[in-house]
Amino acid sequence: MRRLTAYVFLLLLLLSGCGASADPDKAQESIQVIAMDTAMLITTYGERSPAAAYAAEDVIRDLEKQLSRTIETSDVSRLNAAGGEAVTVGADMFHLLDCAEFFRQQTGGAFDITVAPLVAAWGFAGGEEHRVPTAEEIGRLLPLVDGSTVRYTSEVPEGEEGAVYSASLGPGQAVDLGAIAKGYAADKIAEVLQEYEVPRANINLGGNVLAWGDRPDGTPWRVGVRDPARPDDPNALTGVLELTSAFAVTSGDYQRYFEEGGKRYHHIIDPATGRPADSGLTSVTVTADCGGGSGAMCDALSTALFVMGEERALDFWRGWSGTPFQLVLVTEDGRVAVTQGLADCFTLEEASGYQYEIVS
Ligand code: AMP
Ligand code: MG
Repeated sequence: MRRLTAYVFLLLLLLSGCGASADPDKAQESIQVIAMDTAMLITTYGERSPAAAYAAEDVIRDLEKQLSRTIETSDVSRLNAAGGEAVTVGADMFHLLDCAEFFRQQTGGAFDITVAPLVAAWGFAGGEEHRVPTAEEIGRLLPLVDGSTVRYTSEVPEGEEGAVYSASLGPGQAVDLGAIAKGYAADKIAEVLQEYEVPRANINLGGNVLAWGDRPDGTPWRVGVRDPARPDDPNALTGVLELTSAFAVTSGDYQRYFEEGGKRYHHIIDPATGRPADSGLTSVTVTADCGGGSGAMCDALSTALFVMGEERALDFWRGWSGTPFQLVLVTEDGRVAVTQGLADCFTLEEASGYQYEIVS
């Protein structure tokens, strides 16, 4: 974790440029937040930058309390422990369940929050030991993976104004919002930045970046795309994305993993097999413009497209009729495939040795 923290700081120094300035627009506040099992860095600019940065931190802390699998009182923990009974949940949880169901349907089940029991079996739910479950255990847990049985309702009680939200799961089921929560946090932080009239900000929620506006010198934010083949070297990049007012979310096999018998077992589970997705991809970065796009969409899709693999992911991208998004796919066989819309924004790190392809 300490190494990760140092990396986030270093990356900000390297990529964003720092320093106070007499120009109020360039006043800067940087705060580090350890939450959602990751090191986050919030950097805001402008006259109201301190207040905005702390309001962004509040968003993260509040969401963590609602969505964490390891906090017993969270909506997620209460729902998972309810044995199929309905529980009252907050508006954020309700919205995320709805969003998760949308992406489950869109991705043919590659994204499915009910993969939670398998995430736990492999030791990625937080707190437990990493381990390789037996085939028997995986077979027993797989039938629990079915997001279509998650129920969630909203109702405005008579005489009251606010809605009351509730949710329930099928017997034995559990949910894990780890693949969408940080992207959703980025969306809520974008609302805060708007409210505080922040002209520019760099919000790094550990693999989820919100590049708000441009850099103080008027150039785009530079977001490094890590080299999954070099998980121990956070400075090893496959390339750099130059982005203005955009979300950029990466799912990778290097973010959480353990090794056993010379094999890497990572945290993105294929709901069809109950095992770490073995799709030939080692990372997927999804980007979308802030105007129209959402962090939650990028987050859900980065996970799902990782599961799908290159061919299915690109077919999905080509067939997508929703808010546009772009991709950087890093493959096991040493290629970086970048979709057309990022052709002018991505610069390959020559030393990485990857072969670069533009896809249309
Ligand atoms: P991300 O880093 O956004 O790709 O999210 C990965 C996290 O989401 C994992 O650590 C699990 O908690 C959870 N997860 C793993 N596989 C899936 C999946 N196929 N669909 C939804 N959530 C998943
Ligand atoms: Mg995700």
